[in-house]
Amino acid sequence: MIRQEPEPLTQNEHHTDIVIIGGGLAGQIAAIACHRYGLRCIVIEKQRHNKDKVCGEGLMPRGLSILQELGLSQLPSIVSALPFRRIRYHYQGDSVCGTLPDEGGLGVRRNELDRDLTQELARYAIEVLTDEMLGLAESEQHVTVTLKSGRRVCAHWLIGADGLKSRTRSLLNLNAPHKSRAPKRFAIRQHRFLTTKQFSQLSREEVHIFVGDGYELYLTPISGERLGIACLLSEGELLKLNGDAEERLLNLCKKLLPWDVSAMRAASKAKSCGPLRQKARSVQSKRCFLVGDAAGYIDAITGEGMSLAIESSVLAVKSICEAQSKRRTLKKESKTLSPYSKRWKKMFLKHKLLTESTVFIFKHATLKRIFFTALKKNPKLLGLTLKFLKS
Ligand SMILES: Cc1cc2nc3c(=O)[nH]c(=O)nc-3n(C[C@H](O)[C@H](O)[C@H](O)COP(=O)(O)OP(=O)(O)OC[C@H]3O[C@@H](n4cnc5c(N)ncnc54)[C@H](O)[C@@H]3O)c2cc1C
Repeated sequence: MIRQEPEPLTQNEHHTDIVIIGGGLAGQIAAIACHRYGLRCIVIEKQRHNKDKVCGEGLMPRGLSILQELGLSQLPSIVSALPFRRIRYHYQGDSVCGTLPDEGGLGVRRNELDRDLTQELARYAIEVLTDEMLGLAESEQHVTVTLKSGRRVCAHWLIGADGLKSRTRSLLNLNAPHKSRAPKRFAIRQHRFLTTKQFSQLSREEVHIFVGDGYELYLTPISGERLGIACLLSEGELLKLNGDAEERLLNLCKKLLPWDVSAMRAASKAKSCGPLRQKARSVQSKRCFLVGDAAGYIDAITGEGMSLAIESSVLAVKSICEAQSKRRTLKKESKTLSPYSKRWKKMFLKHKLLTESTVFIFKHATLKRIFFTALKKNPKLLGLTLKFLKS
């Protein structure tokens, strides 16, 4: 429950400038940004080890350039990641391809990136509590969070980086209702080992997207001769399938891919998640900021979630830093847009336009056909769109 005034702190308590809820990608980047800006922080992460994630694992140029700015480009998982230069769509036996701007993106195994970021946090002596946030109280001056262990953390600011089903968002009463007409989509992912022959058949420099009816398959080559297979599917398509996550994924691969995926050795456990669409009424309250998926999510169709998580985390820390230096309390969004809300909206707008329109087009067979015919006639169009996303 959220209360307006927290009780006085007694024992078993921690005090800091910023408490970060969630130590996934967004939370860890926020913690590193805090360190860069000279702010003290504590990260609360409920999972102890190997925080793997249902993800296509294609880090797009925008996210990559922010990681470089943060001095994180030499992390082992980034150095050993497979670069991709192009995105190739396959539809009804035909394909169309767009080149990414700059040096392109990277196929990064998420749990390896997570391990490296955890080590960075340890290197900077950033405190990470393995615990779960259960309660949150916010006042004009500070925020107090209550943890499952009974501990409490008191801070000047809070960053909610607790993912798609963010408890921070719901405790702050910032969940926006789901519009009934907006399609509900779900996801399944698994990794498979490829033989060297298969790997060479499947250009390592491309992320392949196979578009079916009601679902798409995203194939991202990653290091260690592994292929990340992520599927995005409609609720209707999901309901048609039987079995566990792996069986469902194999079933969909069988319909759409030119290889027998079941013959490839599994390189990870199949995992699923959803519904993907989550909306926040606002990304900020008095002293709390939502970042990454916690701030709202539309769909993974354009593969930008990691970049948005990285960018929003840095924006939130920057906004807190500015507010601290001006010694003022940020106003509620309903009255004046705070710098963070404004920056977040600006950042999210391009993504929203592109993601909503792609989801809409892919939902309708005729539009999908027109879309692919147009791309085929104007191959530069896809490259221009990818460039627009990076700008
Ligand atoms: C199928 C699929 C494919 C995708 N493909 C791509 C892609 O190719 N490229 C791309 O850039 N993005 C992709 N994304 C999106 C990307 O995975 C997410 O946007 C990104 O992982 C968001 O990171 P996050 O840190 O916000 O959330 P998360 O990684 O979910 O981290 C949230 C963390 O908070 C912790 N937590 C939750 N609640 C609490 C609590 N109460 N107390 C303490 N800790 C808590 C969780 O344990 C978790 O570690 C894809 C997503 C899906 C579903």
